[in-house]
Amino acid sequence: MRPTVSIVRCPNYNEEEVLRGLQQAIDLIGGIRSFVKRGDRVLLKPNLLSGKPPERAVTTHPSIIKGVIQMVKEEGGFPLLGDSPAMGSTTGAAEKSGIKRIADTLGCPIVEFNRPVVPAERKGRIFKNIEIDQAVFEADVIINLPKWKTHAQMLLTLGVKNLFGCIPGTRKALWHLKAGEDSRIFARMLVDIYQIVQPSLTILDGIVGMEGNGPGSGNPIPLGLILASRDPLCLDQVVCDLLGIPRKSLLTNRVAFEQGLGRDEIEVVGEEVEGVKIPSFEFPALSRIDWNLPGFIRKSLKNGLNPKPVVKKELCQLCNRCVEICPPKILKLNEEGPVFDYGKCIRCFCCQEVCPEGAISVQNGWALSLYHQIRGTKFGRSIPKGSIRNRFK
Ligand code: SF4
Ligand code: SF4
Repeated sequence: MRPTVSIVRCPNYNEEEVLRGLQQAIDLIGGIRSFVKRGDRVLLKPNLLSGKPPERAVTTHPSIIKGVIQMVKEEGGFPLLGDSPAMGSTTGAAEKSGIKRIADTLGCPIVEFNRPVVPAERKGRIFKNIEIDQAVFEADVIINLPKWKTHAQMLLTLGVKNLFGCIPGTRKALWHLKAGEDSRIFARMLVDIYQIVQPSLTILDGIVGMEGNGPGSGNPIPLGLILASRDPLCLDQVVCDLLGIPRKSLLTNRVAFEQGLGRDEIEVVGEEVEGVKIPSFEFPALSRIDWNLPGFIRKSLKNGLNPKPVVKKELCQLCNRCVEICPPKILKLNEEGPVFDYGKCIRCFCCQEVCPEGAISVQNGWALSLYHQIRGTKFGRSIPKGSIRNRFK
């Protein structure tokens, strides 16, 4: 059977419209009853990167959470919600993003991911000892609720990348370090996590997404879409189609294809891809040319090829978050802001992800900029906005 991805339009976060959109998207792939049975313990895994208000488009919107909790409860399931934000507690991030109020009102407990276990049964293909939170294995059903956003290291954060939050917060820096500087290795880790966690259902909040300097400081962009699938990998591939970029532009997709997990044939139901294609979208700066170069050339051209984090000193409030999160501990703060040691920086962009002021952005190396100019490729430059902002009004 061909894997299926549903696409439905949803113009805004009006709760009734969102509930209708969710029902439609899930009905198209079998209906909520095919996922949740009476008495099931259902773990909802949103994107709760940090405690930002919903209009910043950093987190999965509370209306999506509300609709999914309602649907789970109607089937007699017991929903609970868990994640591990980049910094701070899940409850704190849920409170600031408007999710806690919804969860409390509807009787959905919030779980802190702080119990790392190395699963005995389900193993990653490459990272055999990856640590996942115990809550994942206690659930009968996992519903993955990513947000459609750009990501400085991985290009986009969608269904597969959202599962990185199943690693308890305190351990994430360690796993970033293990992946090191090569984004392909990080992508392999993400694909391993996807295979271990095995969400039953993935629903993408693409009503308002994030473009540009994502995943924490980009610009909200109305997209007006909800996507759903049993397989987040297939869902991610369809998002690439909607954005008009090759499916393998997303490293997690590329790795999945290399491992025989990718699907060429995906059935799209609901809206047709051509009818809801995204006409313009601002991608982050991203390395795309060093894959096939010999190691010694890559090493000597490192600063020219690799994008790097840079700070706008006038925006920096000296909060120290970037210094705290940096996995290899190579950031220092002086009276003007963080100072980067680019020779030791692993380009994980955790600093950019957690900066509450949007003071850190990603800049292409000179060789990479030149390459993009010559090729006219989308990555690493702004695409002028088209008519997208008004297309669902
Ligand atoms: S996280 Fe941002 S605001 Fe805080 S010290 Fe770093 S650059 Fe400055
Ligand atoms: S400076 Fe930023 S990008 Fe570099 S290793 Fe530290 S957190 Fe990662």
